[in-house]
Amino acid sequence: MNAAFLSSLAENYHWLATLYAIAGLVIATLAGKVVTQLIPTLKAADRLNKDTLAKKMERPSYAENQAWNRKWGGIFVVLIFGLIVPFTVTLETQSWSQMLIDGLVILFVYDFFYYLMHRFLFHDSAFLGGPLMWVHAVHHRQHNPCRQDSSFIHPIEVALGLGLFVSTIFFLSLLMGSFHVVTFVVTWTAFSQINLHNHTLWTSDRFPFKYMNYLSRMHHNHHAKFTGGNFATITLLYDWMFGTLDNGDGWKKRAAAQRKAATEANAG
Ligand SMILES: [Zn+2]
Ligand SMILES: [Zn+2]
Repeated sequence: MNAAFLSSLAENYHWLATLYAIAGLVIATLAGKVVTQLIPTLKAADRLNKDTLAKKMERPSYAENQAWNRKWGGIFVVLIFGLIVPFTVTLETQSWSQMLIDGLVILFVYDFFYYLMHRFLFHDSAFLGGPLMWVHAVHHRQHNPCRQDSSFIHPIEVALGLGLFVSTIFFLSLLMGSFHVVTFVVTWTAFSQINLHNHTLWTSDRFPFKYMNYLSRMHHNHHAKFTGGNFATITLLYDWMFGTLDNGDGWKKRAAAQRKAATEANAG
């Protein structure tokens, strides 16, 4: 490695911005905990999910998996924040509209690739045959997950999920320029909170919680059986686009019926 390359690496390694990002994520998490206790619907869901988790943790095999995952998750996060994030974030001023667009682009691009990974690598598919089904099967042991089951996964899946998210941020930062720390904190928080929420046992279907109820119900449909649909994680946009929405009755039969109807319409 020559000196010029090393000095360019050092120049682009934004450690101070990364420290701000870490502080921002800690503050957002703590603020989230406070808000949860202030809103009765959130507080009730929090109680229900904590009680369910406590019951599950009584089973040694379950507690072992959670501990296994926490260890590997911690290692991956340290590597990500030490080696990748510093090259993607900046403290230079950016407009609010720029930050909003950046955040949305990151989430929608990530969700597209996550959809493909989940559908074609983690599940049985005619296209690739689901080469990583054995990895994802661990996560699907939970047929009716609670909030913490978002991290009941094989460490390989933790690496792939976090790796895909941070790779999306890295490659987009090369195309679009470094992301403001605020964009990074809000986007990372949205990514992790939505993922947690999808697994949350949720009971309220009243305004303004209808969408939260929908997201939770749809991901629980996915967990109910290994052949279910709803492969995306941030929104169900790609499931809607590619015909894999699952309202509890699967998606394959409906998709096949739609194909048949389309062929008959063409033939007629
Ligand atoms: Zn799955
Ligand atoms: Zn899940």
